[in-house]
Amino acid sequence: MSNNASTIMNDAVALHPWQRANHLTSHNNQLMIDGVNTCDLVEQYGSPLYVFSEAKLRENATEILTNFRQAHPNTTVCFASKANSNITVLQVLREAGLSIEINSGGEFLKAQTAGYAPQTIVFNGVAKLRSELELVIAADIKAINVDSLSELERILSVAQAIDNCANVTLRIIPEIKAGAVAGWETGTSSSKFGMTREEQITAIALINEHSDHLTMTGIHVHIGTQVNDASAYQKQAEFLIAYAQEVSELLPYPLKHINLGGGYPKNYSSSAENWNNVSPHYRDNYRTDIGFDAIADILIKPVANALGSNIEIIVEPGRSMVSDTAILLTTIEASKTRQQNSVFYLDAGYSVLFDIFSGWYFHMVNASKSDDTATQLCRMVGPLCDSSDTFHDIEGEGRIKSLLAMMPGLSEQRATLEKVLLQQPSLRELPSNTQTGDIIALLDTGAYGLEMMNQYCGRQAAAAVIVGSQQSSRLIRRRATADDLLHFDVY
Ligand SMILES: *Cc1c(COP(=O)(O)O)cnc(C)c1O
Repeated sequence: MSNNASTIMNDAVALHPWQRANHLTSHNNQLMIDGVNTCDLVEQYGSPLYVFSEAKLRENATEILTNFRQAHPNTTVCFASKANSNITVLQVLREAGLSIEINSGGEFLKAQTAGYAPQTIVFNGVAKLRSELELVIAADIKAINVDSLSELERILSVAQAIDNCANVTLRIIPEIKAGAVAGWETGTSSSKFGMTREEQITAIALINEHSDHLTMTGIHVHIGTQVNDASAYQKQAEFLIAYAQEVSELLPYPLKHINLGGGYPKNYSSSAENWNNVSPHYRDNYRTDIGFDAIADILIKPVANALGSNIEIIVEPGRSMVSDTAILLTTIEASKTRQQNSVFYLDAGYSVLFDIFSGWYFHMVNASKSDDTATQLCRMVGPLCDSSDTFHDIEGEGRIKSLLAMMPGLSEQRATLEKVLLQQPSLRELPSNTQTGDIIALLDTGAYGLEMMNQYCGRQAAAAVIVGSQQSSRLIRRRATADDLLHFDVY
């Protein structure tokens, strides 16, 4: 009997390599999210549709709080709201115990609307406006993370003008290489962020000179996104410990907090085998063994041990709080055959999921045929009138073609060229009977999806729903209307 049971279990795993227990499952050959049928959701709310899981949002928040506070009780988790500032998402995360990180006056408005108190808000950014600084200094937010000397001067001038004292935390460049590609890296002086050591010494002198209007609350570092390299976190801890001690000698009062930033990695596929042809180096970027428990060990614990239990540790996770809390449902609207492969045209392209434009990988499942094994290799593209609107790397494929035309001798290096130049699999695996009208689910689209939607090609931004307890669902962002398309034009 137990043999039979385990055979059935193994078959289930092989049949649904994408599945996640109690979250993404299959029922009657259709994809379910938290027990709700995804095809029914599209029928009810339309397509394309983002579907969030309230349970998963709470689970992620609880998991990071539990792990980090076990390592250091005085830890504050500020959700980086640029990853997703939908008001309902922000409310759920606030109820689950998170504070918030904002990047603009607009995100300040959203944080306040979602009920975050000023003392739970930290403000980041490289070019903060005077008007934004006036708002947050008047509100007495927890900290302004300062990116440059010129910005510190602007903060001082605003604080003097409204006669308030601004809490400032200085963002330092640690010169740590993290993030697999240049665009994911934010902790070196070739990126646009942060201040050098020399600039900070000048900054601290200015802060000490104007102690009525500036308080230095802490130091801040943020090294990248999807940082899947334990040694980068180790270096970050070592750097911060030494730097905090150095800064303390320049200040007449102790630092209140150390802000470690975010960038924690998440899996973009359920299993190591389930990879739609993604090249091996690319899999390393999208699969990780580094969970919150590991980060608590390699980053939080050493910093806390060295700097003492009084220091507050702040972290700013964005992606890792929300990426696996949503799927994007999109419908196949058309198809053709090219070079023996089916080409399927989805109703969602980069105007709905902008990260595909920069080559981000999102796993695909045919939600209308979720029990059928994916045996067909096909091209997946979006609906926009732009040849870059594809789920494969058209530019990379083109560069390889041009290189080989110019230097035919390179053809032996084709695999290496593909490894360096291709950011997406050229073909996706879907069931052989995939056809127009099927619903395709893109997994792990909860971070940087809703936030970056636009109306390019006169396409209306997608709606979003959240699935709650007892298989309930409700709208959390309405689909844009034709009127919305005309809204900004003055005529
Ligand atoms: C973007 C950003 C974050 C969040 O990064 P994730 O990779 O989404 O975790 C945190 N802190 C700062 C300063 C950021 O700019």
